[in-house]
Amino acid sequence: MKLKPILSAKQAAANMAEIEPRYSPQEALVEAERCLYCFDAPCIMACPTGIDIPAFIKKIAHGNLTGAARTILQANPLGASCARVCPTSALCEGACVMLDRDEKPIKIGRLQRYATDHVFENNIAVLKPAAQKIGKSVAVIGGGPAGLGCAAELAQLGYDVTIFEKEQQAGGLNTYGIAYYKLRPEDSLAEVELVKSLGVKIRTGAEVGRRIKVADLEKKFDAIFVGVGLGRTYRLNIPGEDLPEVFEALDFIRLIHTLPLHKVPVGRRVAVIGCGNTAIDAVTQAKRLGAEEAVIVYRRGEKDMPAYPYEYEIAKADGCGFMFHTAPVEVLAEKGRVTGLKLARTRFNAQGKLETVKGSEFIEPFDMVIKALGQEPQTAMLKKLFPKLKLAKDGTVVRDPASGQTSLKHVFVGGDCANGGREVVNAVGEGKKAARGIHRWLTGERVAGPIQTTRLGVAGPPFGSGLDHPVRVPELEAEYYKR
Ligand code: SF4
Repeated sequence: MKLKPILSAKQAAANMAEIEPRYSPQEALVEAERCLYCFDAPCIMACPTGIDIPAFIKKIAHGNLTGAARTILQANPLGASCARVCPTSALCEGACVMLDRDEKPIKIGRLQRYATDHVFENNIAVLKPAAQKIGKSVAVIGGGPAGLGCAAELAQLGYDVTIFEKEQQAGGLNTYGIAYYKLRPEDSLAEVELVKSLGVKIRTGAEVGRRIKVADLEKKFDAIFVGVGLGRTYRLNIPGEDLPEVFEALDFIRLIHTLPLHKVPVGRRVAVIGCGNTAIDAVTQAKRLGAEEAVIVYRRGEKDMPAYPYEYEIAKADGCGFMFHTAPVEVLAEKGRVTGLKLARTRFNAQGKLETVKGSEFIEPFDMVIKALGQEPQTAMLKKLFPKLKLAKDGTVVRDPASGQTSLKHVFVGGDCANGGREVVNAVGEGKKAARGIHRWLTGERVAGPIQTTRLGVAGPPFGSGLDHPVRVPELEAEYYKR
């Protein structure tokens, strides 16, 4: 059966309402006042963009919302979207010393959203273009989080920056590929406008490699930043995969971001293959758009899923189903339309390898199948653009992790095409890091201020925390930039 929208505009809008409403002024004040404003705050170290978290929280506590937003957006121009989509429990909130006092961590993400909403909704300009130009220019290929992070940092350092974005709108995954109830396209596009307000030119519908040639960019610009993200979803390689009701998860989510919600076609019984962040976004949105049943099909077990625990909880609360240790064998169809999936049970053998259980095949009826198996690297495209660029075996670009500089000295990279696929905030942080790498390469100057990617470790108690025992803090994987 051809897929159709299921819900009325009113129902769809209600179901897709934001999952976590904004704090009221009173709630924000109470939460901000819980913060200990730690010196050497581990939450800062855990933020890949190095936002001075205690500083902005203190400003909220003092009623200075504009100042709080300035602190956030200077460090991370995508601070409003990161406030909504960051896995805070694995980053800043996971490092908060309150956990070591057996208290709930400070809700940093929600406070960040509270402050940034204030300036976006009231059209308050908190960032300014650089007072002086330094007479150099950079081309940024890709207008997603990495490209925007790089462009904003360069613009504030005085560079002329032009972003080349192949889509009709910039913002990348933030605009087209994140669950609607977490982040709306208009919030992403407001941040794109913020970056433009710094003097960054954004050419949309401009795919480098077609009419725009890399050789021309190399002649016109002093350096190039590449933040092109990842490519298509990996294929299942099973019969029936190319039937019309088999979608890539990002294509399905893109429909939700580009069509009115009540016009998005969705199945009555939807299977989502995979169990990462995008799979959860797809299954929950299918359910919220009216699917009677929306089920994750995952070949490994519950404890192996790459999705975060909070995402798992959202999906369960939405009434989504989970079929663990189950793999698709064939997409079934009648008269060219999907009618179900042939599935098989899987298990780990004595050597720990995943295998299909012989004779375990069974059939489940579905009218829509969504593939969320992760995305392929952009190997072919990168090789076409830069034939001499050194790529790693996994298809990511080989680069200096501290500066993003590649084997081609004038080419810098960051974001998913460099790291293989991490969080939005990692992409922004890597874009920012590459901007500083470009600045150092072109001028010899270092930019002050911390940016790092982190993993949690253990260290002494932060000054001011009142603790007398070691706490979990991020180990720095990369460097502090110092003058
Ligand atoms: Fe506040 Fe927690 Fe950061 Fe300390 S670690 S400054 S308590 S948010």
